[in-house]
Amino acid sequence: MKKEANSLIDSHCHFDFPPFLDDPGHYLLEAQKVGVSMLIVPAIGRSNGEQIASLSETFAQIRYALGLHPYYIHSHCDNDLSWLETALAERDDKCVAVGECGLDFAIENPKNEQQLYLLEQQLALAEAHNLPVILHCRKAHNELIRILNRFKGVNGVLHAFSGSYEQGKALIDRGWFLGIGGTITYERARKTREAVKKLPLDAMLLETDSPDMPLFGYQGQANLPSRLPLVAQMLAQLKQQDVEKVKHQTTQNSRRLFRLDKK
Ligand SMILES: [Zn+2]
Repeated sequence: MKKEANSLIDSHCHFDFPPFLDDPGHYLLEAQKVGVSMLIVPAIGRSNGEQIASLSETFAQIRYALGLHPYYIHSHCDNDLSWLETALAERDDKCVAVGECGLDFAIENPKNEQQLYLLEQQLALAEAHNLPVILHCRKAHNELIRILNRFKGVNGVLHAFSGSYEQGKALIDRGWFLGIGGTITYERARKTREAVKKLPLDAMLLETDSPDMPLFGYQGQANLPSRLPLVAQMLAQLKQQDVEKVKHQTTQNSRRLFRLDKK
């Protein structure tokens, strides 16, 4: 019975951050033991694009995305967009998305205009290369929707969904998925828990955002891909559905969005 358990995909895991590179094989094995068989590792920028690509060559469980993360807006250089353009044009099969990109107006001196420009350019690249997008968004929901309205041919996932029902529905109505992670393990996240109860499971992906976003009960520790089943359990509990069904559906969703069956 156990052997037939659904395999899970951690759709957002920064596996090139500490502590993982100290012993990546160990962390992947721990994840595998609880059924997490694949990790999607987004880039934060040019600085780690090559490293995550080489991780995907070494470890069969790893897929990756290339993009310029808005949180690091102060580190990106003028020619990083042309780097991204070239890297996407020369990508291998393990590169499954553009990301992580988006808007983060919660940082100090967010350079809003530059963030909006970089996001637009990356959505255009995703469209040109027919790739899904991994989005990050903080304190910029309305601006995000306005931009997505102009890129109707592009979809992807809003990772670390922590919004309301209305915010989630606005994305799903536009063909986007929601990345469900540690937020829902916190009782105080009442608005997001209520949203997740009502929004459709077939628009949800599971993620840990490791090593960030520790789950309830693990505060202060590095988050791990091996904790993904705990997110599935909480999602099943909130939606009052069988956990195996939740695991199966969310894995199918990731496979569909990132077109993993072809790779
Ligand atoms: Zn991230």
